[in-house]
Parts: sequence; structure tokens; C-alpha cells
Amino acid sequence: MESALTARDRVGVQDFVLLENHTSEAAFMENLRKRFKENLIYTYIGSVLVSVNPYKDLEIYTKNHMERYRGVNFYEVSPHIYAVSDNSYRSMRTERKDQCILISGESGAGKTEASKKILQYYAVTCPASDQVETVKDRLLQSNPVLEAFGNAKTLRNDNSSRFGKYMDIQFDFKGAPVGGHILNYLLEKSRVVHQNHGERNFHIFYQLIEGAEEDLLRRLGLERNPQQYQYLVKGNCPKVSSINDRSDWKVVRKALSVVGFNEDEVEELLNIIASVLHLGNIQYGGEDSGNAYITTDTQIKYLARLLGVDGLVLKEALTHKKIIAKGEELKSPLNLEQAASARDALSKAVYGRTFTWLVNKINVSLAYRVTPHNASVIGLLDIYGFEVFQHNSFEQFCINYCNEKLQQLFIELTLKSEQDEYEAEGITWEPVQYFNNKIICDLVEEKFKGIISILDEECLRPGDASDITFLEKLENTVGGHAHLTTHKLADGKTRKVMGREEFRLLHYAGEVNYNVNGVCVRAHGAVMCMSDNKILTQCFDRAELKDNKRPETAATQFKTSLAKLMEILMSKEPSYVRCIKPNDAKQAGRFDEVLIRHQVKYLGLMENLRVRRAGFAYRRHYETFLQRYKSLCPETWPSWQGKLADGVSTLVKHLGYKPEEYKLGRSKIFIRFPKTLFATEDALET
Ligand code: ATP
Ligand code: MG
Repeated sequence: MESALTARDRVGVQDFVLLENHTSEAAFMENLRKRFKENLIYTYIGSVLVSVNPYKDLEIYTKNHMERYRGVNFYEVSPHIYAVSDNSYRSMRTERKDQCILISGESGAGKTEASKKILQYYAVTCPASDQVETVKDRLLQSNPVLEAFGNAKTLRNDNSSRFGKYMDIQFDFKGAPVGGHILNYLLEKSRVVHQNHGERNFHIFYQLIEGAEEDLLRRLGLERNPQQYQYLVKGNCPKVSSINDRSDWKVVRKALSVVGFNEDEVEELLNIIASVLHLGNIQYGGEDSGNAYITTDTQIKYLARLLGVDGLVLKEALTHKKIIAKGEELKSPLNLEQAASARDALSKAVYGRTFTWLVNKINVSLAYRVTPHNASVIGLLDIYGFEVFQHNSFEQFCINYCNEKLQQLFIELTLKSEQDEYEAEGITWEPVQYFNNKIICDLVEEKFKGIISILDEECLRPGDASDITFLEKLENTVGGHAHLTTHKLADGKTRKVMGREEFRLLHYAGEVNYNVNGVCVRAHGAVMCMSDNKILTQCFDRAELKDNKRPETAATQFKTSLAKLMEILMSKEPSYVRCIKPNDAKQAGRFDEVLIRHQVKYLGLMENLRVRRAGFAYRRHYETFLQRYKSLCPETWPSWQGKLADGVSTLVKHLGYKPEEYKLGRSKIFIRFPKTLFATEDALET
């Protein structure tokens, strides 16, 4: 039999806290690499699960595996996403405390796959009844629907989620799933009208075009060729080898009915999807005056029919804007460029609101029929990780702001739970120094002088407000801040790499330049209020237009929804899954050191390990500890009759533990260094 020592050499340690040199990034990387080579994609940092995307199917998600993790103590089995799932479930059941599992990592790291594995685990292992089977089906089938409308092929991931998702799974007092609720965040609407080279629009467009029956296509006025549609050709990538749009269409159609959409609703939904494609094909010409006009009526006719809007009103909305002058409403013609962006803004608004409608509709179907007695909840958060591209826009700004908030929550809660545990066990807590990113969160969200406040003020100010005046205001208000730089404020050295229309934030994870282009643009959807389409009339509320109160900007909406999310997460007991992408080529077996080191940094894993190791590397309940090692001491073997604490004390004294190496708390033993534990483990082997 392989000795414990050589096994450790080969496969590394299954918990990073057991690394001898826990502050060394090199040792961390080495452990991760060793395990990855052996297809051991999961490793802990205490109770945090680190997962490396294997980019191949591993035989570790069978029903047998699920059984193996069911009701078993976290540390008795090898690290697994099922262990985290089970642990949360058990804490929820025994401690009656709501749980949440926060999954983070960059695009392609495996967040969505992880969240699906968790959901499957509950679907298979939790108790069931007839009603519960429907709920389980709906929970599982909500995924293909949301992915069709919210995921797309990007350069980094063939099935990239272009929205953030928080999903509550509700359980009744018997521990059976009885309902669910989804919150969605910041859909990447720009993708509806533009895709970078090698990327696609949202899956649903291609699924519809490739998969729909002939008469459906005819009714929608569509051709079976994505290349015909301006909104689908920008990325020059209609087909993806890993995706079968035609069979996915069938899956989605079925999922829509499982989730509870009736035929009328599906029809109206598809009318909207087709309408977006028709909108994209509207071409403008310029009159001598410079005013834009629509060159052919083909698309307008389809749109009028599919959406039940008046063709003339629609044309007017696509070529004019409303302005209020001296209290009177006037129409002013748009030039070519303005008209094209009005068209795109409308498409984005229609798609974005339809997506929100879809989520609401799914929520109605997931809501439980009878309010359960003593319900408890496990929340799953699958949200985009920190993003840095060559060009970063408002969308990246929001994503990275969200990550700052989550990092803050993470640090606070990890530190707090460490502290709480030491206190509960009656052990002196030694404070840990760490970087508190509150300063960056404040810079973004503070009232009056935070970046979002300043942006709001500029966006909503009538007159000459523009992207550039926003930037100037930023310079004047927070120019001196240690975490913010603009082109004007930058010194000679950094100036070269900064554009005139950019500002730079120093995030906890590194520097990012953001372009302010278009941050102040607002879409108007007045024309859609008049639609006959039942979905659109719900999406574009007439009251909203009449309302004279200041409209909320996208940034403020996002800030408010994030604040709510933080509140939700704070009220629950968190578990963490940190996902890592091993290479940029979506390839199995390739471990790209540089890329992974970056992610270890962005995810704050070294910081996490430092906090976890600040006191003691290892802690176990007396009972677990005695059970495992009792054979090493004649007085505790075959069983210890007295108090558990005394048994452990007798055992470790017999093993020669020095007083500085361990502490005995109320219910647990705390061991300071991994080597002490390893020596004990090795003694078991001999
Ligand atoms: P995004 O932020 O772009 O949505 P993501 O983190 O959600 O990215 P996933 O879509 O979950 O990434 O994973 C990307 C791909 O990696 C999957 O389509 C799958 O091919 C592969 N993958 C991820 N996790 C696993 C796993 N545990 N086993 C096998 N393959 C996996
Ligand atoms: Mg995803």
C-alpha cells in the first residue's frame, strides 16, 4: 500500500491549510497542479471549495457519488461539490438556518456547471412527493430556458452566461424542495445588436432559425439563414462545433412547457424574438437635409403585425425623437447615426425587458402552491467574475463593482466566522491584518460623491450633459482619490496607456481602465406601450412614461439591486465555491501557470488561506478526532469512557504534542501546524 507520505507527494494535500508553507504562492500553485494532473479538480481552503475546470467529463457525478456524500462529514471524504451541497443542506436542516452557496470565477471557469451539479444533487437526494417532482422538474428545466435567452457563445466560453443569477431553492420542514425564486442581474444587452469577432448573439436566435418548423418561420417572416440578419452577422460565427442549435431548440421548447408557458405565451415570446431580428434589418437612408428615413417597409410590416403596433407610429419612433420645449412636446428628426442608435436602443430595451419578464414568469411557476410551514432556503449565486479586457465599458464597470462587493462580503464573513468559532470555543483570537476594499466600494457607491451618483447627476441633467462632461465632473469631485485616475490627472508615465475618454479604477484585484463612451445614453420605449403583444404591454408600462419623477439610471438600478443582494446573502450562512479556468483554449489537461496565478490573485485565495491559517491550520470535533486516532494510544483504545475532552487530551499527550502546538476548545481540538497532524496521520499508516 502507498504510504501517506508518498500519496501526499503525488496528489498534494486536499486542503490548502495543510500546506507547510501556506504563505507561498508557489507552494499553492504546485499543490493545485499536482491535483489537476491526477484529475482531482477539487481542493479546500478550510470550508471553501476551489474547483479547476477539467474541460472533460469526469466520472465523479454519478448517483453513486451522490450517495457517497450524503449525510457524510465534510472531511471524511475527498473534496467535492456534492460535499458542499450536502453540508449546506444539513446545516439548513439541523441548524434551521438559511444557507447560500456563492460561486465565483471568471468566464469559462465552471460556475454554471457547478450550480447545475448542486441543483441535480438536491433533485436526486432530497425527499420527494408528487408535487415535489413537478417542482424539481421546473427547477431543473428553468436552466435551459434561461440559458437560451441569457447565454451566448463568446471567445472564452461556448455557453457563456451573459447575466448574473441568484436562485433560491425553498425546502419544507421535511427537507423536500417545494419552490424556487430567481433574481437576475445585468443582462449584457449590447450583445443583441453587436457581437465581437468570433462571438454570437444569444442562443435563442439561432435555435429559432435553425430549429423552428417551416410554417412557424413563415409566420414570423424569417428565413432559415442566420446570415440574413444584421444582428447575427457581426461576429461572423453562425455555427459553433460544440453546439447543436436544432436539437437545443427542441430542448428549449419542451422546457418552456414544463416551466409552465402556454402556447399563446410561447407565440408572443417568439414574436418578440423575431421582431428584434426584423428591427435589426431596418436600413436608413439620408435625405439631403441629413434627416434619416427608412428605406423599405418590409420590416415595418412584419413588426406591425408581430407586435401589433401601428406601422406609422413605429416609423416615426425610429426616425424622430421627442423633445420638450417650453412645456410643449415636439418631434425632432434624427440624422442617420442617431436613427441607427435609436433603433438599436429599442432592440436592446425590448430584449432586456422580455428577459426580465421571462424570469418573472418562471418565478410564478416556481412559487409554491401551499405556503410551507417552517420553510428554509438554500440560495445559489452564479455571477460573473472580475473582468478586464482591452476595452472595458460600463458593463465591466458594473461587473467589477459587483465583485468588489462580494469580496467585501467574503472577507467580512470569513473573518467573522473564524472569530465566532474561536470565541465559541473559548480560544483567544489573534486579529488578522487584511486589505479592506471598503474604500473602493465607497468610491463607487457613496451618496453625492460616489462615481454612480456623479453619473446619475450627469445623465439626468437636461442640456449639454455628455460622456465627457461626466468625466470632467468625476475629475473635479473625486480626482484626488487614491484609487481613481483619469487621463488628465495621470502622470506622464501612465498617460500613454490611458485614453482621453477613460477613467481608471484601482480595484482590489488590479487596475482597470473604463471607457465612458455612451454611458449617458437612454433608450425610450414609448412606442412599445402601444403594442398588442401581451408580454410587451407588461414590459413597457404606460404609467412609467407619464410619471414625472426622475427616472432611475441603469447604474442606480444596479446599485440598488446589488444592495438587496448583499442583504439577502448577509442573512444567510455562506459557503463558497471558487472556480478556476485552467487555460484559454478550452482544452483538457492543460494547466497554464500564468493564467491560473492571475485567478488565484483575483479570487483572493492567498488572502483567504492566510485568514484561515492565522490561528490554527486544523480543527476537529473531539469525537471525530478520537474516532480517527484512538488506536494510537492504549488508554483510548478500543474506546474512551470518560469525557471526550479528557480523551483527546490523553491521546495527544501520549503522541507527544507540545503545548504550543495545539489548544483544546469547548468541543474541538485546534492544531496549529500541519506537520503535527501529518505525523499523527503517518503513525496511523505504520
Ligand atoms: P461564464 O461566466 O462565461 O458563464 P462559467 O464559469 O459559467 O462561465 P461554465 O459554462 O460553467 O462556465 O463552464 C464552461 C465549460 O467548461 C462548460 O460548458 C463545460 O464544457 C466545461 N466544464 C465546466 N465545469 C466542468 C466540470 N465540472 N466537468 C466537465 N466540464 C466542465
Ligand atoms: Mg455561466
